Amino acid sequence: MSKEKILVTESSMPSLEEYVEEIKPIFESKWLTNMGEKHIKLQEELEKYLKVKHITLFTNGHMALYSALKTLDLKGEVITTPYTFASTTHAIVQNGLTPVFCDIEKDTFTIDTSKIEELITDKTCAIVPVHVYGNVCNIEEIERIAKKHNLKVIYDAAHVFGVEYKGIGIGNFGDMSMFSFHATKVFNTIEGGGVAYNCDDYTKKLNLHKNFGITGPETTEAVGMNAKMNEFQAAMGLCNLRHVDAEIEKREKVAREYRKRLEGIKGIKLSAIQKNVKHNYAYFPVVFEEEFGKTRDQVKEELEKYNIYSRKYFYPLTSDFECYNKQYDSSKTPIAKYMSDRVLTLPMYADLSLENVNKICDIILN
Ligand SMILES: *Cc1c(COP(=O)(O)O)cnc(C)c1O
Repeated sequence: MSKEKILVTESSMPSLEEYVEEIKPIFESKWLTNMGEKHIKLQEELEKYLKVKHITLFTNGHMALYSALKTLDLKGEVITTPYTFASTTHAIVQNGLTPVFCDIEKDTFTIDTSKIEELITDKTCAIVPVHVYGNVCNIEEIERIAKKHNLKVIYDAAHVFGVEYKGIGIGNFGDMSMFSFHATKVFNTIEGGGVAYNCDDYTKKLNLHKNFGITGPETTEAVGMNAKMNEFQAAMGLCNLRHVDAEIEKREKVAREYRKRLEGIKGIKLSAIQKNVKHNYAYFPVVFEEEFGKTRDQVKEELEKYNIYSRKYFYPLTSDFECYNKQYDSSKTPIAKYMSDRVLTLPMYADLSLENVNKICDIILN
């Protein structure tokens, strides 16, 4: 039994030399934050890489999503899914909005668009769908529904850095898309995030929210937050961006190996491969159904005996969080509940060796 620890993820990092080279000018200028040179450069490079018109950077993805919702000045109900990270639901609630939970599709783990319209009321103001694991939501249908009912669409795009749909950068859809550059994501700035959008008017408002609402030396126009990305974060991003394509290629090899071993096994369900989508292989989710003979929790425990750490992601559903005091009924989103009770994301990162992938699969299959 090997003692090497395999965690569910490992952050992508440049060499120490590359990072030191990148931060040298910061030591000369002593400009550490507040939209410095690195911040400006990263923003420009991300706009190019993600093929979006605008991106506004934040110190993390959550503040980016919070500020995106704030910028649209929404009131009332927001249709979203409970099969997500805490951030999505919290950002809605922190904006004084009421989340209304829609179920998800079994194959992609994203919002089931056939169930959105029945949830729309005269209070509904927006849809906040989540692109899950690198899978893309049913963008066209969401756009049709949003137009018909005059709703805003803000995507949680934390999982889809670099993903394209029909050759178009994923950040171009809806009114805004939030990306997370957290250490555990495909591309990281240690902590970090951004909001991508096409409408020129949003830039000023987003910048207000990330810097206390300050517009000039003697003017403060909004009750804003402090959510600026600092220069050391931006420098990490500039380095990581040089390698992200190679990292995604390595992830693809890992995903292919997992699929080779686990596809077609009785009781194991893998995420669908979507047409017209350039994927980023952010996660490798596996659903263990009854016919497998062992539960998800049993598989997780067995892997841990070998020092291998998978993650119940997403479990529990956000609608079942203690902080929401049973306000929501997760039995109304039965597919989300079913998936959440059976899913395990296996270790996935660029430097995971194929040998270790096989070791993980051997343990699962034996
Ligand atoms: C990571 C993540 C976020 C929040 O991002 P942070 O950068 O950690 O604040 C939001 N939504 C989803 C689905 C995520 O996975």
